This record gives sequence, structure tokens and C-alpha cells, in this order.
Amino acid sequence: MSKLNAHEGGPVTWSVDGDAGIIRIDAANGGALSPDVACLLAKGLRELDGESTIGSIIVAGVPGRFLTGNDIDASDGDVDAAAIVAQIETITKPVIAAITGPAIDVGLEIALACDLRIATPSATAGLPGLTLGVPPRHGATQRLPRLVGIAKAIDLIAAPKPLSAEAALAVGIFDRIEPDAVQVAVSLGGTVLKDRLSNRSVPAGDASGEKHSVDAAVKRAKGIGAIERSVSLIADTASMTFEEGLSREQANYKDLRYAPEAKALRYLKHAEAWARTEPGMQRVDPRKVERTAVVGAGTMGSGIAYSLLAAGLPVVVLEQSADAAIAGRNRITEILLAQQKSGRLSDTKSAEMVQHLTVTENWDAVRDADLVIEAAFEDIGVKAAIFDKLDKLVKQGAVLATNTSYLDVDEIAQMSGRPADMVGLHFFSPAHVMRLLEVVQGDKTAPDVLATALSLGCRIGKLPIVARVCDGFIGNRIFAIYRRHAEYLLEDGASPAEIDSALRAYGFAMGPFAVSDMSGLDIAFAMRKRRAAARDPNERYVGIPDILCKDGRLGRKTGAGWYDYVDGKPVASEMVERVISAERQRLNVTPQAFSPEQIQRRILAVMANEGAKVLEEGISARASDIDLVFVHGYGFPRLKGGPMFAADHIGLPRILAEVKEAARVGGVGSEPSALLVQLARQGSTFAAWQRESNHER
Ligand code: NAD
Repeated sequence: MSKLNAHEGGPVTWSVDGDAGIIRIDAANGGALSPDVACLLAKGLRELDGESTIGSIIVAGVPGRFLTGNDIDASDGDVDAAAIVAQIETITKPVIAAITGPAIDVGLEIALACDLRIATPSATAGLPGLTLGVPPRHGATQRLPRLVGIAKAIDLIAAPKPLSAEAALAVGIFDRIEPDAVQVAVSLGGTVLKDRLSNRSVPAGDASGEKHSVDAAVKRAKGIGAIERSVSLIADTASMTFEEGLSREQANYKDLRYAPEAKALRYLKHAEAWARTEPGMQRVDPRKVERTAVVGAGTMGSGIAYSLLAAGLPVVVLEQSADAAIAGRNRITEILLAQQKSGRLSDTKSAEMVQHLTVTENWDAVRDADLVIEAAFEDIGVKAAIFDKLDKLVKQGAVLATNTSYLDVDEIAQMSGRPADMVGLHFFSPAHVMRLLEVVQGDKTAPDVLATALSLGCRIGKLPIVARVCDGFIGNRIFAIYRRHAEYLLEDGASPAEIDSALRAYGFAMGPFAVSDMSGLDIAFAMRKRRAAARDPNERYVGIPDILCKDGRLGRKTGAGWYDYVDGKPVASEMVERVISAERQRLNVTPQAFSPEQIQRRILAVMANEGAKVLEEGISARASDIDLVFVHGYGFPRLKGGPMFAADHIGLPRILAEVKEAARVGGVGSEPSALLVQLARQGSTFAAWQRESNHER
């Protein structure tokens, strides 16, 4: 290799091999485009272009890396790569991208400006920045459709993950896959023709295929504006010039890059990273888990067993009788079949999982388990008997877990006789689908047991969030206040449909009354009856759902609940309206009108207030954990970042004012949290509180 014009050292180096100039990008942070990298890349292109003996320029990464776009946290904003892209296109020599690793976001846009793309087998291509609400701005929406056609470009824009090298080759984004991409690029060198995608016209496509891609992409975008607008721009590409398309692309970027939606999505990404580092846990080794057991193969146990099996863990499922064991095995088999049918599970993997599964009423099979998860009936007596039995059978050192939703994990731990080995693992339904896992740390839970629960959670693909013991932990506790205030709004004048529709308009997948109809009104009714004796008489109690239950309106399963169901679709029920207005009359309530905004503000305020109580009581260490619980477990809109983030965004003084109004309406249990009052008074936020409490590690 000639040393002519060689530039050595730093994140971008260039040298000459024969008549090819090679630029090597060795960008830190996995390949992020820093201002330094951009500046040197431009300089390398300029110098090699000016060298008359050079016939072609190769833009390469180092093995395993190429360019992954901007650092999303860079405080000085994104690096503008427009000059580099323009420079590559104006160079008259062929410029070849030797893609030696992920070509992501701006990295892919730079590769698209080149005349040929040769990738190594480990390379990938994609625009995942879109899923964080950041639209491209260096021509991806214009060059991609010119390269692969409108439909495929839209599919790529909406793809949740970057394409593998093979997939990118099949689509036509990569031209070749070569283990030594740089050497092949050198040998092709000057034979490659200049091929500016900006000069090409958009290939004619099949209108129905394009429409199908648009519909699928919009559905998958789940409201993310960056994806929706990029998709619509690509769909229109054929009817405008490259420059017109580029300026629309740049307008999208300008509108959305720093919009609240992109901030929320970026925040949630960070929140997940913070959640992975539980304070104090870094130096604690988890216990070894090779064999697992699940007690109870009902709704939850079967899904939990599936999740463990899918992670390659052998599972023994214990039931109370031979018949129950058969029914339990059938439930697990049904999940396996459904997953196979949907293409999410291969036949081979399914057969392997069945090999690892034992469902039995013979409890001797639990002796070897390193971890046992109890998912039997929600009854303290049932759980006490189970843990008593487990204590006699399970080897010492095994981790014992309960999936209880509301029972006291400390009480169960005490009854187990092994409180240090005990932890709560609160899965969400359906347990094989939902990523959220509340890991409930009891008073006596040993640090290595907590570490085991967290590492197991990650191993089975869940998002473990630590909670301490209280009624309902993080999620169900805050959800309870949400539901209560929805009922107060109802009794005070709003209809179920008005409340549901206001919350759907905010971005919730469903409103609370539709959720209640789906899960069954009887579950909450049973709980209310259980807790009746302990309820504070000064807590406002709405009796309407009890009347509906007594009337047999238990929700969808009985064909009627808060709504009537006509052909499976909910419609407002006259009978429910009569019950509501009779209750209002009995209580002398003059119905008021609530606007959707009032409903949204009230619900958000009471959730954030309860979240603040959860923080001040130490039930959760991080406001961002609360946000993750609601986004992943309760259908809270991701684009709003979660209740705590949304409250910060609105401003805590305004939230506090709304909470005071809610407290007037709700009485005991709805009072403002001391932490909220303090932060509002200081003009602070939950995010600042979290940073100061040093929980972002
Ligand atoms: P379920 O009624 O569907 O299943 C319970 C299973 O446990 C049944 O198969 C039953 O035969 C078995 N069982 C009962 N007693 C047993 C015993 N002594 N030994 C062995 N097996 C026994 O209940 P579920 O909905 O799966 O709930 C299980 C637990 O998970 C409860 O504690 C519940 O609060 C909790 N939970 C439920 C949900 C949910 O949405 N269903 C969500 C989170 C947590």
C-alpha cells in the first residue's frame, strides 16, 4: 500500500492502494458520527479526490463497524452530514461504500450517496432513529425509493430492526456481500460507473402493493409521527423532483426532531437502560438457575412456563391433581401451537421446548429446582399451604418466587420459612407476551436473590422493574387510583363512553371502562368485598360497578358490562345510564359536563400524584421505572413518555393544582403527595429529583 497522501491516526484515516484511495472510519461509540468524524471524512474525500493518480474512492469502516448515525444524546445536536453527502455525489470518481458493520441512520444515508455498496456478511442497514421519533434528513426518503422502489422503501422505514446483510442484498440496498468487502472494492475500483441515485427516477411500482406497504407501515408506526410522515413522503416521491422531496424531508426533520414525542421516545430508551442497573446490585452475583418449576398452570402459570421454556430452561409445572395437570399441559400446548401458527416459533424450537416440559401432580419433581415460581390462586391460605410444602421439598438455596398481584410478599415470605430466598415476580397477562415484570423485593429478600430475579427476568426477555412491598406494588397501586377517579368522574357527570374516548384520544389503547369489561367486573368486585372491612369510611366509594355485578353485567364474558355488546362491538347501555342516574339522584349529585381535556388532566394528575407517593415511600426508586411500568403494562401512550414524564412536561405546579381538586372530590387516599408539593414549590421536576437522587446509573 502506497503511503502517498496517507493520513494516519484519529477516527478517520486514509491511504492509497494501487489506484484506489481508501478512507477508514473508526468511529467510537459503535460507529457514531461525531463532529470530528464528519470533519475528517470530508477532508479525506477532498484530499483523495484531488489526487490525480487515484481512480476510485472507497469509504470503509473497520471490521464489525461502519457508521451508526448521530449520538442521540449529543448536547450540541445532530451532526449535519449534508455536506458529506453532497461531496460524495459531486466527486467525479466512483465512490464505493465498503460496509463493514451496521450502516444505520446517517450511516446508511452516506452509503446511499455512494455509487456502489459492498457489504460484509455481518453488516446491517436501517433507519431505527425513526422509532425514536427522528426522521432522516440526508435523503434516505428520496434515494431509497429510487434504489428499491416505493413499496420496499416504505417497508424498510417501518421495519422495527435494521435489515441483515442478506435481507438488504435481497431488497437491493446492498449490491454485493463479500467477506473482504474492502479488497473487492479496491479490485473493482475504476470499473464502477458513477451512479447518483438523486439522478435516477423512481421506478414505477404496483399501486396496490404500495398501498399495502403504506397501510402496514402506518399500523406499525403506532402513531410515531416521524414514521408516518416519512412513509407518506416516500409514497409521494414519484410525483416530485428529488430536490422537492429533500426539502420536504428536511421540513419533517425540523418539525419533529426536538418535538415532545421524540423527547418521550428517547427518554423511554434511557429509562430502560437505567432500569437495567439496580442501585447496589452491580457487585452482587446472581444464584445459578438451571432448573425451574412453576406452581399452578392456569392463565399465568402457563404463560410463565412458556417464557421459561422459550429461554431454554427446563420447567416442571406442578398442579393440584392429575386432571389439573392435564388441563395445564393443554394450556401450555395451546400457547405453543398459537406461537407456531403465527410464525413466531419454529417447529424444531417447539419440539425442544416440549422436551424440557414436565407437568405433574407429583411434587417430588420440584426437588432439583433452582427457582420456583408460584402462580396458584390469589388466596393467602392457598399460598401458605404451597410454600409450606415447598419448604419441605425444595433444596436449600433455591429461589422462591410468588406471582401474587396484591397479597403481602413479606407475609408470604415469612410463611415460607425461607424469607431471604423469597422474592415477588409479578408477571403481566398474557405472561408469554407482556415484557413487563415487576420484581418485588421483600424486607428480607437477600441481595443475591434479587440479583437472580433480575437476571432471570432479562434472560427470559422481560423488562424487570424493582418494586417494594405495598398494596398493588407500583402498577396496580397507581392503576387503582386511576380507576377510582374515572369512577368519580362518572358519578359526577361523565359517561363511560366519554371517559373512555377522552383517554383513547390521549393515546391509551383502551379506556378504563372498556378494559374493565374486557378483564371482567367480577375481579375488582371480589377485591372490593375482601377489602370492605378495612376501607376508610371517609374514602369516597362509587357503588355503580357493584350494582352492575349484582345484575350479572360482568363484562364481555356475559355480553354486557359498562357497555352492551352488539355483534361483539360495545354500544352505550340504557340500563347502565339508568343505574348511573339513579345513583346520582340518591347521592344528590348534580351532573356536570367534563371536556376530554379535563378528563385527561384529572387522570394524569392523580396517576402522577400516586406515583410521587410510590417514590416517597421508596416503593420505586425511579420515576422512570414508574413510566416504564405504565407504558409496558397498562397501555399508557409511549409518545407521552409515561405519567411522570408527562407530568413534568405539563409542569408540577399545574399538576398539583389539579390534584388538589381531585382530593376535594375523592377524599381520603387522594391527598397531594408531600414529594409532589415539595417539587412543585421548588419549581422542580421528577426527572431532576431522580438525577439528584443518583438513580440514573
Ligand atoms: P388461575 O385460576 O387461572 O390459575 C391458577 C392455577 O393454580 C390453576 O390451574 C389451579 O389448578 C392451580 N392451583 C391452585 N391451587 C394449587 C395448589 N395448591 N397447587 C398447585 N396448583 C394449584 O389463576 P391466574 O389468573 O393464573 O393467577 C395466578 C396468580 O397470578 C394469582 O396469584 C394472581 O393474582 C396472579 N396474577 C394474575 C394475573 C392475571 O391477569 N390473571 C396477573 C398477574 C398476576
